[in-house]
Amino acid sequence: MSSPSPNVVLVTGGTGLVGQAIKHVIETEPEGSRFGKQPGEKWIFASSKEGDLRDPAQTRALYEKYQPTHVIHLAALVGGLFKNMKYKMTFLRDNLLINDNVLEAAHEKNTQKVISCLSTCVFPDKVEYPLDETKIHTGPPHQSNFGYAHAKRLVDVQNHAYKEQYGHNFTSAIPTNVFGPHDNFDLEDSHVIPGLIHKCYLAKKNGTPFIVAGTGKPLRQFIFSYDLAKLFIWMLREYDDVEPVILSVGEDEEVSIKEVADAIVKAVDFKGDYTFDTTRADGQFRKPASNKKLLTLMGGFEFTPFPEALDLTVKWFVENYDKART
Ligand code: NDP
Repeated sequence: MSSPSPNVVLVTGGTGLVGQAIKHVIETEPEGSRFGKQPGEKWIFASSKEGDLRDPAQTRALYEKYQPTHVIHLAALVGGLFKNMKYKMTFLRDNLLINDNVLEAAHEKNTQKVISCLSTCVFPDKVEYPLDETKIHTGPPHQSNFGYAHAKRLVDVQNHAYKEQYGHNFTSAIPTNVFGPHDNFDLEDSHVIPGLIHKCYLAKKNGTPFIVAGTGKPLRQFIFSYDLAKLFIWMLREYDDVEPVILSVGEDEEVSIKEVADAIVKAVDFKGDYTFDTTRADGQFRKPASNKKLLTLMGGFEFTPFPEALDLTVKWFVENYDKART
C-alpha cells in the first residue's frame, strides 16, 4: 500500500507582507507544533513572476507545476485610498480575474482546501458595529473602494457556490489592518503604519519635523503579520467551514493613530518636532470588528503586544531600507 502523499501548500502572493509572514512562521516554529511545519509537508511561496494569476493558462500551469493539495490565496491587487479611488475598474477586474482563476484551477484539480483572503474594507459602508462575519453582504461598500470590495465579496459567493454544486472545501479569512516586515512602505500609497514609519525615519535622517495627517484620534485594530500568519495556519489545519472568519485583535485592543505615532517616534528614536496636521481629513472615527468567532473556535490566542510588534517592524525597515518597498 502506498503511503498518502504529503501535503503541498501553495501560498499565492507569497512574496507580500502576509505571505512572507507565513513563511517566517513556518520556518521558525518547531516542526510538528500547532503553527509549525508538519513532517513531509511542502510549502511554496509563489510570486507574480512565477505566474500572472490574471491569466487562466498561467494559473493552471502553477497548479500543474506544484500540484498543491492546499492553497492559501493571498495574491491581490492592493493599494491605498488614492489608488483605489483612481483605478476602480482595474481593482475590480484584476481581482475578479485572479480570484476566479485561482478557485477554478483548484476546482479542476480537486484541491482539498482553499483559504482566500478578504479584508474588513469589503464590509458595507453603512453598517452596525462591531463588524462580524454575517454582515458582509448587507449593504453596498464604501464608494472609495467599491471595485476592490465587490471583487473580494464575490469570493465568498464563489466559495458557497463551489461548495453547494461540487462539495469543495473553499473558505475565506477577513483580516483587519495588517503591519509587519515586508510591508509596502511607499510614502504616497501605503497603509498608515508603514507610511508613518517611513515618514518618521526620513524626518530623523533629514532633521525635519514629523507631521502626522489628521487629529490622531481615530481608532483602528492592527494585527501583526506574524500573528495573522499563525491564524491562517490554524485555519488551514483546523477550520473546515465555508463561512469566513474575521482574523483580528479584539475590539478592546483598538489603538488610536496618536498611539501609533507615539510608538513609532519611540521605536525610531526620533527626537525632533512632532505634530498633527489637523487640517487633514481623519476618516471614520472607528470601525471595530469582532474576533469572537475566531477566539471561540480557537480557544484563545495570545497576540503580540503592539509596541513589541511595532519595534520589530521598525527594526526590519531600518535594516532593510535598501530592499524594502518604498
Ligand atoms: P502585498 O501587496 O504585500 O502582496 C501582494 C502579493 O500579491 C504579492 O506577492 C504579489 O506578487 C501578488 N500579486 C499581485 N498581483 C498578482 C498577479 N497578478 N499574479 C500573481 N500574484 C500577484 O499584499 P498583502 O500581503 O498586504 O496582502 C495579502 C492579502 O491580504 C491580499 O489579498 C489583501 O487584499 C489582504 N489584506 C491585506 C491587508 C493589509 O493591511 N495589508 C488588510 C486586509 C486584507 P509580486 O510581489 O511578485 O508582484
